[in-house]
Amino acid sequence: MAKHDQMDRVVNLAKRRGLVFPSSEIYGGFRSTWDYGPLGVLLKRNVKDAWWRSMVQLRDDIVGLDSAILMAPKVWEASGHLATFTDPLVDCRNCKERFRADQLPESGACPNCGAKDSFTEARNFNLMFKTYVGPVEDDASVAYLRPETAQGIFVNFQNVQTTTRKKPPFGIAQIGKSFRNEITPGNFVFRTREFEQMEMEYFVPPEDGAKWYEYWCQERYRWYLDLGIPEDKLRLRPHETEELSHYSAGTSDVEFLYPWGWGELEGIANRTDFDLTQHSTFSGQDLSYYDQEHDRRYLPHVIEPAAGADRATLAFLLAAYEEEDVDNGKGGTESRTVLRLHPSLAPIKVAVLPLSKNERLVPVADEVAGLLRRELMIDVDVAGSIGRRYRRQDEVGTPMCVTVDFDTLDDRAVTIRDRDSMSQERVPIDGLLGELKDRLQA
Ligand code: ATP
Repeated sequence: MAKHDQMDRVVNLAKRRGLVFPSSEIYGGFRSTWDYGPLGVLLKRNVKDAWWRSMVQLRDDIVGLDSAILMAPKVWEASGHLATFTDPLVDCRNCKERFRADQLPESGACPNCGAKDSFTEARNFNLMFKTYVGPVEDDASVAYLRPETAQGIFVNFQNVQTTTRKKPPFGIAQIGKSFRNEITPGNFVFRTREFEQMEMEYFVPPEDGAKWYEYWCQERYRWYLDLGIPEDKLRLRPHETEELSHYSAGTSDVEFLYPWGWGELEGIANRTDFDLTQHSTFSGQDLSYYDQEHDRRYLPHVIEPAAGADRATLAFLLAAYEEEDVDNGKGGTESRTVLRLHPSLAPIKVAVLPLSKNERLVPVADEVAGLLRRELMIDVDVAGSIGRRYRRQDEVGTPMCVTVDFDTLDDRAVTIRDRDSMSQERVPIDGLLGELKDRLQA
């Protein structure tokens, strides 16, 4: 399958099956914004849950936070966003389209109209969305939608440290919406103006910064592999010195091989004591940490793994998408689309399928569904041939189907059908939940 074809097919599947819809679609859409549908919201939530589980639940050195999107404007002065969170913007004098100067093709031709040497001088464009708080629209009421979740963590460093009594090394994790007025959004949910970030700030003694930076690069790279991104589509790319942000003593990107080439999934940065120094200066509060054991006071250094929930969701979808020829049971083959999502990411874990709409089968299917739904996200599908219903579940990545047939009425057993191997096995209803949970964890 051609690479761009694969992107089209995934976008198409996402629309057709309720994963991702164009936003405001009945009004013709709205500037590269997207809405997650019934299956998409489950998928993205599973991505965020997997991140939270690995970052917060399974560790005793990281705690969570949910800070506000609107913050004191001074925060953005201190962080440097007001002065430097800009992209270089150029206009095409011919067609009036706008582009990021650092993303123009080498040919120098306008990507929209093809005109040569038609660009204006680059000027800096601040990516923060500006708004006004309260009824009066004047300079004193200006506020910004946060362009990253990290600053909410830095300004709460002291609150969290004193209430949890954590000692460096320790981290604060946050998942939430961020907003950037991107000049050229695109590639589906890869670059949008409203998106969700999964960020963690890890506070360490200054001398340990380099060690923890290495640790988090490896840890974050492995997270994507563990959730099913193949090794040949994932790489850890250290930034060149000239690419580094002004605050960074080292940055690496985890990159995924998207259909259009390598693209960033997540950045891991050694931010040194830049942020806490800035916020100490601008707020006038001493944000240093007193290390009682060694009787010393210091500003912790910070290692930041910053990921995007939408980009990760897209990468998991692209990596999982497959079309294959399978035996049609009549001596020939047929094509099936399957999302080989990791079971923990699959929107629906188990589909319960009565063989037909027969009035004796449906109540048993309902009983089985009732047994499973307290612990697993399930779907009950009664319409269409059983083969068709398996295909519908395959293309949204449901790892297991449970079929209730006429034998079930006598033997109280059902058939488990596996998404990947398509093998079928008969198991008693009594042990069904345990069996399914074992398989989902395997
Ligand atoms: P890029 O270079 O692609 O613009 P960035 O380096 O500015 O990204 P960061 O500031 O490091 O991105 O943000 C951390 C993560 O947030 C990114 O790795 C990405 O997953 C996500 N992210 C950033 N901008 C966007 C966006 N416009 N749309 C979707 N996700 C985004």
